[in-house]
This record gives sequence, C-alpha cells and structure tokens, in this order.
Amino acid sequence: MMFVIALSFLFSTAYASKLHAAASDTFTAQVGDMSVTMLSEAQREGGLDILIGAASEDIAEFIPTGLYPSAVAAYLIESPDGAILVDTGFGREIERNMGTRGLKPSDVKTVLITHAHGDHIGGLLKDGAPAYPNAGVIISKLDYDWSAQARAYLSKYTGGFETITPGELAAEGTEVLPGIRAIAAYGHTPGHTMFMLESKGEKLLIWGDLTHAMAIQMPRPGVSVTYDSDPVAAARTRLEVLKYVSENKIPIAGMHVAFPGIGLVEPDGDNPGGYKFIPADK
Ligand SMILES: [Zn+2]
Repeated sequence: MMFVIALSFLFSTAYASKLHAAASDTFTAQVGDMSVTMLSEAQREGGLDILIGAASEDIAEFIPTGLYPSAVAAYLIESPDGAILVDTGFGREIERNMGTRGLKPSDVKTVLITHAHGDHIGGLLKDGAPAYPNAGVIISKLDYDWSAQARAYLSKYTGGFETITPGELAAEGTEVLPGIRAIAAYGHTPGHTMFMLESKGEKLLIWGDLTHAMAIQMPRPGVSVTYDSDPVAAARTRLEVLKYVSENKIPIAGMHVAFPGIGLVEPDGDNPGGYKFIPADK
C-alpha cells in the first residue's frame, strides 16, 4: 500500500543547484502541476519543556533521550499561476533556500500565512520593508485581529493583503487561489489555518503548526505544547486532522516536521488511537 502511494506522488530532492546549502535544506514534492518545496529555516532538536499532558511512560518510550527532531520551515509552491510562499520563517535562510529553485523573493506572487507567530510571519519584513515586494499576503481574519505583529507587518505591504475566513475540514475548506483551499484548524492560535493543495487529482495538506513534536504527537495526538493558545482545542483539531488525512491518504507537510517535512500519516496498528509518520524520502 505504501509503495502504491509513494509511486503516485513523485518526490525528488534538489541536489543539483545547491552549492552552499546542506542536503537537508530543501525537499521537493510534485503535486500534479505544482512543485512544492520545503525551505528549511532550521533543523534542530526540541525539548520536553514545551510538552503539555505527556505521560512519563510515554516520554520514556517515545523520547528516551529527552530530545526529538524538530524544524522551522516554510513551503514554496511553484504553480502554473506563479510562485506562492506558505509562511516566511523568521527570515533567516528562506531566501537562500528559495534560490535553489531559481527564484528570488521578488518572484513570489502571494504569501499565505498559516498563523501569526514570529517563526511564520517574522520573514515578511526585511530591514523594515516588505521582504516579498511584489506579493499580496493572505491571512485569517482571526489571527490578523489577534496579532499586533501581523497588523504592524502587513501595514507595510504595498502589494496589499487580504484577511480570510477559512472553511471547514469536512468540506476541505474554501478556495483562496486556484487549486489552494484554506481550512480552519483553530487551537494553536485563534485563526490557525491549513492549506490544501490539489492538482490533477493529487493533494497535499500543508498543516502549519498542527504538530511540534512528531515523536510523541503521532503516537499520542492528545499531547499539546506550550505554544498552543488553546491546548485543548489544539489537541481536538490535531485528532480530527490526523484522522482525516490518514483515512483519505492525503500527504502532509508541516512547518515543524523535521526534514523532509513532507510525508504520509498512517494509523499505528500496534497503538490504537495513535499514528505513524512515513517521511516522503523513505
Ligand atoms: Zn511555529
């Protein structure tokens, strides 16, 4: 089953043009006519201090060293309609890694924002000016209203910005760009939004910050993190989304999922209620 899915969803790492970038800095997946590239801001390890509601026996089993793989990333979508960036990282390595695709920030037509935390919107500005000077920005109205940083940063966007109300998961959201739908995934922040890509019958869900510690949040999705505005709602949303993508075999991409950042979620047969993540490079 895994191989069938893997074959229908072609992956390739962009080794060729990376002169200075590490092998883990980008990973490209094809979704129909869209190329989707994980642009790494950082690959690192997370600690136990951010976990909420993790049982000590689960930590001993799933995070025996006390550290787990983590990342900060943005996603570049190269669609027939142009270049779209989903989140901006802090704005440290995204531009350089975008360069491995032959693109510059000025080539980006639209920036989609999953939510208004600094590791997602910090890169909207560079030296106080729009880092993506030709882009319009799309953000949920709820996060725009909630975040002073978002309002301050977007006020500088001469390319304009739009606030949206994402749709429900059951309807796979509402279309915001051709082949891209915004889905409400509230809890991590008041307006946390996922983006579903669809092209030629293939899909990919960019789920933003649905998870921060895959090592324990896959087997125990009820574990939340201190970054979650509403840890209870975040856990409820996580359970709904994991169920949905595993039942519908929709590949996912996450901003804090370690390299390659993209893969499939499957129910864990040995662990009822838990899930396994199959990275796309495996
Ligand atoms: Zn984040």
